[in-house]
Amino acid sequence: MDIHEYQAKELLSEFGVPVPHGGVVYSPDQAVYRAEEIGGARWVVKAQIHSGARGKAGGVRLCSSEEDVRAAASDLLGRRLVTHQTGPAGKVVHRLYVEAAVPIARELYIGLVLDRRAERVCVVAAPRGGMEIEEIAARAPDTILREVIEPAVGMQAFQARELAFGLGLGAQQITQAVRAILGAYRAFVDLDATMVEINPLAVTDDGTVLALDTKMTFDDNALFRRPDVRELRDYAEEDPRDAEAAKHGLNYIALDGEIGCIVNGAGLAMATMDMIKHAGGEPANFLDIGGGASPERVAAAFRLVLSDARVRVVLVNIFAGINRCDWVARGIIQAAREVRLPVPVIVRLAGTNAEEGRRLLRESELPIAAAEHLADAAERAVTALHQPRIDSIPVTARAS
Ligand code: GDP
Ligand code: MN
Repeated sequence: MDIHEYQAKELLSEFGVPVPHGGVVYSPDQAVYRAEEIGGARWVVKAQIHSGARGKAGGVRLCSSEEDVRAAASDLLGRRLVTHQTGPAGKVVHRLYVEAAVPIARELYIGLVLDRRAERVCVVAAPRGGMEIEEIAARAPDTILREVIEPAVGMQAFQARELAFGLGLGAQQITQAVRAILGAYRAFVDLDATMVEINPLAVTDDGTVLALDTKMTFDDNALFRRPDVRELRDYAEEDPRDAEAAKHGLNYIALDGEIGCIVNGAGLAMATMDMIKHAGGEPANFLDIGGGASPERVAAAFRLVLSDARVRVVLVNIFAGINRCDWVARGIIQAAREVRLPVPVIVRLAGTNAEEGRRLLRESELPIAAAEHLADAAERAVTALHQPRIDSIPVTARAS
């Protein structure tokens, strides 16, 4: 689970990470009010979306008057920001963060990640922050410093000092940086994070160390024991279809194509997507309905796939080992009756009770075509794209 920058700043500051004075706002009036309250002569108005690289996309505005703050807030609220992390659809800005702007002398990078290969938390630092870590890794890989943390004892002060020295900080900044790094580490561990990023960790003109941008990601499997963290979830940032899928225990990922897929098993789902591509089509989604999918779950899968307006044909591919094809067929029939099938459906059933499943589909007299095998199913789906009326699919292809 991801959270917003301002939420991460709140959490991290409780662990001693220094951040500028700021607050979240939802309207231009609130932005101005907040800027007045913060005081000073310069502010930064920042779009709160779950993405980095907002600066380059125009989501971070430096303001030197209250009118600037109001104008920046009016412009950003409701705007769709597209960064290389959001994908082409971008993300709509619903919240802003207003904070005191500081004069920056240096921008550093600090990141804490779970290194799965080392099975350890790894603290990464680089002397030229501001840009994304991928960019630093590509442009100046030798400047990246790493400290691997021994879990039995946790991060030691000498490790944080080592990073601070490596970043070339002066004596005055080292104590501050060490405090910030150790604080970030404690937040990472105590809150079950999987990622903490401070980018930039800035050194201001007067030598103060401040976290100007923070990002945190949490382990979904640990949220049950972190109710305070779980409360920070912003559903507006999530694809509503993902939330709907999670409710029914379906593993769903939306894609850009036109062929909706309903498949049992992640491996078979991948193979189905490959076959669709091989036949010249594009899958609209990845959807694994799981091993013991009940008719209710199949029906939920249908509703989910058909809620995507781009879907022009649905391919159901079931290999029933644990599952039973007759159950799946019942689910398809139930869903088809509910939604009155706006698009053709191609079904390939194999395994347990496949014959019974096909019989049920046939007797339902619904416009559902049965395919012989996976390649056949993929080809029929692509053909159906060009002839979207079900009665144009060859009779031999219908459930037989
Ligand atoms: P990101 O683009 O989503 O990573 O957003 P950041 O919060 O990191 O902002 C991008 C850039 O804006 C930073 O790297 C800084 O160069 C600049 N910036 C952010 N806050 C301040 C500030 O308080 N003062 C100044 N001068 N620049 C800032
Ligand atoms: Mn940043």
